[in-house]
Amino acid sequence: MINLNEHQIREKLKNIEAFVLDQDGTLYLEYQPFSWTVEFLEGLQERGIQYLFLSNNSSKSVKEHIKKLSNLNIKANAEQILSSGEATIEYLKSLKSWQDIYLLATPEVEKDFQNSGFNIDAEKPKYVVLAYDLTFTFKKLDRAARYVRRGVPFIATHADNNWMIGPNDFRPDVGALAAAITATTKVEAKFIGKPNMEMVNAFLRRLGVSKEKVAIMGDRLDTDIRMGHENDILNFLVLSGKTKAHELESSPYQPSFVIEKSIDILNYF
Ligand SMILES: [Mg+2]
Repeated sequence: MINLNEHQIREKLKNIEAFVLDQDGTLYLEYQPFSWTVEFLEGLQERGIQYLFLSNNSSKSVKEHIKKLSNLNIKANAEQILSSGEATIEYLKSLKSWQDIYLLATPEVEKDFQNSGFNIDAEKPKYVVLAYDLTFTFKKLDRAARYVRRGVPFIATHADNNWMIGPNDFRPDVGALAAAITATTKVEAKFIGKPNMEMVNAFLRRLGVSKEKVAIMGDRLDTDIRMGHENDILNFLVLSGKTKAHELESSPYQPSFVIEKSIDILNYF
């Protein structure tokens, strides 16, 4: 489903009932909302299209994600928030005996796991779970590594190595923290968030629709578009964020269709 023409896009959109939306670069840029974002979301609502906000930021709880969006004039309810942390909760709950885990996460995200029924500090955990833990310490690393060395499966919310906080300004992300555990145990984590299939399964379950009825919109080829590409889901690249038009040519992940900005999609319904 790559490089479709205008006519094909119009035909495909007739079946679409939901959009999963990337946030940074798609709805806002570095905490500055785009002037068209509210009108775009209202346009989806008017057309009866539901939408979710996808995020590989598992340092924030659902409440914090809602507040962050609200500060950007974007209204969202808890059902519309799907972070890599939330997707990890859903993934774990689909497994047998999921309750007992050892969780590395911020205090707010710990609460989300607890409210979902997890014992996050189990003496004999069934899983070691790494979220974007901004309170990561040597003590936590040591304890997680001990469990993983003993054979406890190691799950991480997403694989991104860097979190972009400004132009050419990064912070180490979950991939970098996971790499520390991997270095000392030789065990690789199973990653859940974008662009993995587990994230796709989580949003399809949340939306209650089949993948033919969903479209992905995002600004990154290696996460947003890759997720659509590899799972055969209609996807739209916006050029309002990270990706510049000239980078498309050399990318192995080709979008279904390219638009300048989110609101442009309303012209094709
Ligand atoms: Mg983005």
